[in-house]
Amino acid sequence: MPASTAGRASACARLPLQHVDLLYDPASSRATQRRAGRNNATVVIRKLLRRVFRRDAAKPQAAARSEPAVIAQIRHGIARSRILPAAGKVCDTLQGAGHKAYVVGGAVRDLIAGIEPKDYDVATSATPEQVRELFRRSRIIGRRFRIVHVMIGGETLEVSTFRAAHDPAGETDVHGRVLRDNVFGSQLEDAARRDFTVNALYYDPSNETVIDYHHGVADLKQKTLRMIGDPAQRYREDPVRMLRAVRLAAKLGLTIDPLARAPIREMASLLENVPAARLFDEMLKLLLSGHAVECLTQLREDGLHHGLLPLLDVILEQPLGQRFVWLSLEKTDARVRDDKPVSPGFLFATLLWHEVLAAWDKRKAAGETPQNALFAAMDEVLDAQADKLAITRRIAGDIKDIWALQPRFAQRSGKRPLRVIEQPRFRAGYDFLRLRAESGEIEHDEADWWERFANGSQEERQAMLVPEKGPARKRRRRRRKPAEDGADSGGAASQSDSDPETESESN
Ligand code: ATP
Ligand code: MG
Repeated sequence: MPASTAGRASACARLPLQHVDLLYDPASSRATQRRAGRNNATVVIRKLLRRVFRRDAAKPQAAARSEPAVIAQIRHGIARSRILPAAGKVCDTLQGAGHKAYVVGGAVRDLIAGIEPKDYDVATSATPEQVRELFRRSRIIGRRFRIVHVMIGGETLEVSTFRAAHDPAGETDVHGRVLRDNVFGSQLEDAARRDFTVNALYYDPSNETVIDYHHGVADLKQKTLRMIGDPAQRYREDPVRMLRAVRLAAKLGLTIDPLARAPIREMASLLENVPAARLFDEMLKLLLSGHAVECLTQLREDGLHHGLLPLLDVILEQPLGQRFVWLSLEKTDARVRDDKPVSPGFLFATLLWHEVLAAWDKRKAAGETPQNALFAAMDEVLDAQADKLAITRRIAGDIKDIWALQPRFAQRSGKRPLRVIEQPRFRAGYDFLRLRAESGEIEHDEADWWERFANGSQEERQAMLVPEKGPARKRRRRRRKPAEDGADSGGAASQSDSDPETESESN
């Protein structure tokens, strides 16, 4: 990092706080004004600064400041006690060794917005090797751009060296997507290469100030998500920023600045060139953000889903499963917001379920036995999604367990129900069953029965079991006998009926 820039930034960071506070926030209280009014010169300067500030804030596009604002705690509201202690410690150690170090990005933004941050990132002037030397429990990761994972207690913090925006003459693909951006830089450059103004904030735990190069705090308070630099250019460099805009706006209740919103529709197709794994990561973040329904609605409006993200096509363009999928997303959102765990396996199982049903029905219609048809259909759907979704083996295992339990819920006699509730994935399978009932795919009775059965005493369970042989079974068998069984099985509602074991039992 060029020492001159570092010097400039830190000189500014040492400005007296009350001065900076005044400089930054025009809306000082009346009482403060009265106190300041004792000195006329101060008032004149104050008015002038206010005017300058207002003009600045009204600028449509985030202009980079070479001198950042240094905002006092009273204005941004982050006391050191609110941050993760490990993040404070990492900054202390780095600063103690003579480096610059700040909590940066999403954590600062979330804390100002009153949201508990998911993770903490630290940005520093120290090189990865220098960071590595200062923390015994740390390791350098990443080949292209090396960052350091520092472990403190049970926490892992990501520490990255200030990075410059990519070199304009550097490596891009034919669409302008930046392929290399691994150049160390100054803090000023590090701020400029970040995507939105609200993401370019640096919190210094040692004096509780926020260093703000792009009016991020003002934008956050005005509930605006504003791109740093020219939005079209920034989307070309990295089209994933379009998805981030939608997700962050929903998460923080911000309005995407019209200048940043406008190019999205026509640039949406650039997402096609982004590697699948990167898109998948971003999709997963979006789906688990607690605002999936809102995000997906917005993506659809902005034309960001069609044909671009296979998963979104699956979610948004299957009339049969639409109700089921939206219900699942609503529930996922509610769980995330209540801080309850959410399993990606469960989520993907719901997103792809109606694909499985369609494939299952097709196979049964072609004469495969229901059991074989189900397992083949599960593999078929997962294989088709494998490249596009990069679903890990573990998640795929979870998904299959949940799907495979579904026909077994139709078996309510003998020892089979007991074996079902002993399955490790019973709870997830049951929740899935409940969702199918709520979406209208199956009767509520079936899910109610399992709830009672799972919660019942041994005697109650025994009494609930459906007799192995009975009149109902015979009736059913007669009705189900014709060979058109598979042919007219219109997807969801008929799937459990078609299970061979189900056929021998009554509901
Ligand atoms: P969240 O953690 O809530 O998903 P975030 O903004 O913290 O949101 P991260 O992926 O953790 O997202 O990124 C950390 C920071 O890195 C961001 O705040 C931003 O400053 C920067 N950043 C992330 N992705 C990009 C990008 N595509 N372009 C520019 N800067 C980015
Ligand atoms: Mg983050």
